[in-house]
Amino acid sequence: MNYIFPPREPVTADIRNSSQRFPVHRIYCVGRNYAAHAREMGANPDREPPFFFTKPADAIVPNHASIPYPPRTANLHHEVELVVAIGKGGSNIALAQALDHVFGYAVGIDFTRRDLQNAAKSKGHPWDAGKGFDRAAPLGAIQPAVGQDFRTGTIWLQVNGETRQQGDVAVLLWSVPEIISELSTLFELLPGDLIFTGTPAGVGPVQPGDRIECGVAGLGTLVTLIDA
Ligand code: MN
Repeated sequence: MNYIFPPREPVTADIRNSSQRFPVHRIYCVGRNYAAHAREMGANPDREPPFFFTKPADAIVPNHASIPYPPRTANLHHEVELVVAIGKGGSNIALAQALDHVFGYAVGIDFTRRDLQNAAKSKGHPWDAGKGFDRAAPLGAIQPAVGQDFRTGTIWLQVNGETRQQGDVAVLLWSVPEIISELSTLFELLPGDLIFTGTPAGVGPVQPGDRIECGVAGLGTLVTLIDA
C-alpha cells in the first residue's frame, strides 16, 4: 500500500492469561446507567433512560500506566465501569441473542473532564471534549467469557487507598444484553468494539500524583497513575 505517511499501529487491549491481543474497533459508553449516579449528576433516572456516547479507540490506556493530567481541565473525574468486549458483530440484535456477541469483560475508567462536560451540558454542546480526550479510557485485561452474561459483582474504585466508589453491577439500569441490543439498533456492532457500561455513584476528582486502583469482582484490578 502506498500510504502518504505510515498508518498508526492498531489499538489493542490485553487479554487475561493470553499472549493474544484484542484489536479495538470503537469505544461506546453508556451514560447514567446506575440510578444513584444519575441522581448525583442531577438527573432523574425514573424519567430519563440511559443513553450512549463514544470515545476514540486510541483513548485506551493499558494497566499500570502513568498518564499526564489532561489539559484544559481543573476537574478530572474518575468513573469506574464494567466494560463489555464484543467478539461478534451485528445490527438489530435481539435481546435473546445479545450474549452471543460477547467476547469477554474488563474493568475500565471513563475519565471525564467534568468542568468541560458541565459547560457543554449547560450550552447543549457535544460532550466530546469532556469525554473523548486523549488517554481518557484506561482498560484492564479482558477476561474471556464468550457468550456469557455479567449480572452481579462488586465494582469499586480507590484513590490513594481510599474507597471512592463501591457498587454492584447487579443494579445496572440497562443490563448487558439490553445494552448490546439497544446499541446495535443505532450502530452496526463489529468485533473489537468495547462498551463502557456506566459508573456507580461516588465519582470525584483526581489530582497529579494520585494512584487510582479499581476493579470488578472476577475481572482483576486496574491501576492508573496520574503523573506528579
Ligand atoms: Mn461513564
